[in-house]
Amino acid sequence: MKDTTKHFDKVLNASKFYNNVDHQPDANKDVIHNGPERSMPYANQNGNYQRNRPVLNKSFDNSKFYIIGSGIAGLSTAYYLIRDGQVPGKNITFIEQLHIEGGSMDGSGNAEDGYLIRGGREMDMTYENFWDLFQDIPAVELPHPYSVLDEYRLLNDNDSNYSKSRLISNKGVVEDFSKLGLNKKDQLALVKLLLKNKEELDDLTIDDYFSDTFKASNFWTFWRTMFAFEQWHSLLEFKLYMHRFLHDLDGLNDLSALVFPKYNQFDTFIKPLRNFLVSKGVQIQLNTLVDDMNIEIAADGTKVVKSIETVQDGKDAQIVIGAEDYVIVTTGSMTEDSAYGNNTEAPIQKIDNATSGNSAGWKLWKNLAAKSEVFGRPEKFCGDIEKSSWMSATLTCKPSAFVEKLKGYSVNDPYSGKTVTGGIITITDSNWLMSFTCNRQPHYPTQPDDILVIWVYALFMDKDGNYVKKAMPECTGNDILAELCYHLGIEDQLDNVIENTKVRTAFMPYITSMFMPRAKGDRPAVVPEGCTNLGLVGQFVETNNDVVFTMESSVRTARVAVYSLLNLNKQVPDVYPSQYDIRHLLKATKALNDGESFVGEGLLRKIMKGTYYEHIIPGNAIDENEEKKETFIQEQMHKFHDWMDHVRGKLNK
Ligand SMILES: Cc1cc2nc3c(=O)[nH]c(=O)nc-3n(C[C@H](O)[C@H](O)[C@H](O)COP(=O)(O)OP(=O)(O)OC[C@H]3O[C@@H](n4cnc5c(N)ncnc54)[C@H](O)[C@@H]3O)c2cc1C
Repeated sequence: MKDTTKHFDKVLNASKFYNNVDHQPDANKDVIHNGPERSMPYANQNGNYQRNRPVLNKSFDNSKFYIIGSGIAGLSTAYYLIRDGQVPGKNITFIEQLHIEGGSMDGSGNAEDGYLIRGGREMDMTYENFWDLFQDIPAVELPHPYSVLDEYRLLNDNDSNYSKSRLISNKGVVEDFSKLGLNKKDQLALVKLLLKNKEELDDLTIDDYFSDTFKASNFWTFWRTMFAFEQWHSLLEFKLYMHRFLHDLDGLNDLSALVFPKYNQFDTFIKPLRNFLVSKGVQIQLNTLVDDMNIEIAADGTKVVKSIETVQDGKDAQIVIGAEDYVIVTTGSMTEDSAYGNNTEAPIQKIDNATSGNSAGWKLWKNLAAKSEVFGRPEKFCGDIEKSSWMSATLTCKPSAFVEKLKGYSVNDPYSGKTVTGGIITITDSNWLMSFTCNRQPHYPTQPDDILVIWVYALFMDKDGNYVKKAMPECTGNDILAELCYHLGIEDQLDNVIENTKVRTAFMPYITSMFMPRAKGDRPAVVPEGCTNLGLVGQFVETNNDVVFTMESSVRTARVAVYSLLNLNKQVPDVYPSQYDIRHLLKATKALNDGESFVGEGLLRKIMKGTYYEHIIPGNAIDENEEKKETFIQEQMHKFHDWMDHVRGKLNK
């Protein structure tokens, strides 16, 4: 390796950064400035400058890499090992308990038996790590040299996403959803939460902080149904979401902030990524779970994985981890222990609070946690499934009364290939708080022309339906259709809907386990203290400022794991910095106030009028009355300052 850098050695030998890069710089601690000591980009300086290929300080040609779990976190680990670590693909082996890759990003079934997607796919343009990866993965339908990102852009640049029916109630009537409906006190509570330090929020819940008026607002309905937050979830995570998606606040009501893939997540992302990795020689061992690891812990706290214990088709086997080898594990999973149902059968739940956390991902994490506290506290996330579960249903629809009703809620004809409902439609008077969405169709590459695939989910699992007097997890697919048809005012056509709709349901006990209240130390670091050859990735590891329940954060952790374990001369920039952009801050302030002027807006407009920066103030000029009010406030402020000066002058005499 020395030979590679021989023309740079004088500089490198004197550098304090070379082979000593902070792989995960924290924008929340970064005081940005230029000066002689600064040579690296700012912590959240995303962009092409970060597309450099790190020069290796050693070769990994003789290292083997075992990646446990083939969800997006595992698959992107392999991608970054190959791209930035220059690891030969043949040195990488996946060990996956399931019969298929992709983990939580599924997309199975067919038109006859019914399709099944456990999740929808809301996405954001600022998934910096995710797009960094997918701009290198060959496209699914465009020819060489186009990438998955290229085809994603082709679609989304030419077909915007928005909703015309975000909220409905009263048997299918579209509500006015133009306003967030936050009173001044609740707006202030949000601002105060943004100002709080993360350390102040350990173990607090949303309920602990917000008022009843906040929880009655449209804002909370939009927020919790779009992101699947419940009021008993982590206040810290709520705060991180506010920072991470600050730029989306003015597109929260009509979902115009979102972008969506063409097909389901498996066909759009997992399949091309998997094919790319296999073309590079990566090995994938399916139907094999990892039970435990033998970790040698030295007196100084150094931790080295020596072997991993696997079970394949009921047979135990051990993989010895050599001195040059590495292990990367996805700890925990939001979709383990999923239970499935169909039109006539409710999902049979396999676990309860007493028996939760025993499936492969959780068990392996628990076994690690038993070895050292640096591996965190898995039980905080998997121990209360009543608070972490919900259920979704995938409807495979032939033309029916339901499809006719759907057309009225859609921004384009459902069969046009364009945006349909533009994200979820929430039924606000549903006891279950049920939502449904029709994404662009077809949602599967092989889907017949007369079929639509619809996704339904609900947040409250313990309440009886308004029409079907059962809790959702006790319901068959036909019960769910009955509840949906009731809320759409077409229950008299239920037979027609059932006859033309295949339903497949999925009850997911840990679907929001990542949102459970947490404190420092509950989630381990990506490379836990003392570990030399072990990295942890996915949704249950610590990042500086990123959120959970996104594909993006799983890719981020994979990238951090690769750069840290291989000690690459490259950093993973912190989350996209919209929270520090004055334009987004002003826009968000105005959005929270439902487009009304914010305090000081009139003054700001006056100062900015006619200047280069005039355009950064969002929306139209405030009306005359508002302006008068502002002028009045300014005059009072001036009087107050004059009075203060007067008092100060007297005191100083
Ligand atoms: C219903 C739903 C809706 C979602 N909506 C969105 C959305 O709109 N936008 C968005 O960005 N994200 C969304 N997500 C989140 C996103 O899909 C996940 O964050 C991401 O897929 C998690 O990937 P992962 O690789 O970290 O974990 P997983 O996908 O859970 O993968 C973990 C894998 O590891 C395997 N594994 C674990 N332990 C072991 C072991 N011991 N031995 C062998 N194998 C093991 C598991 O079988 C699994 O395949 C959604 C997810 C769901 C389920």
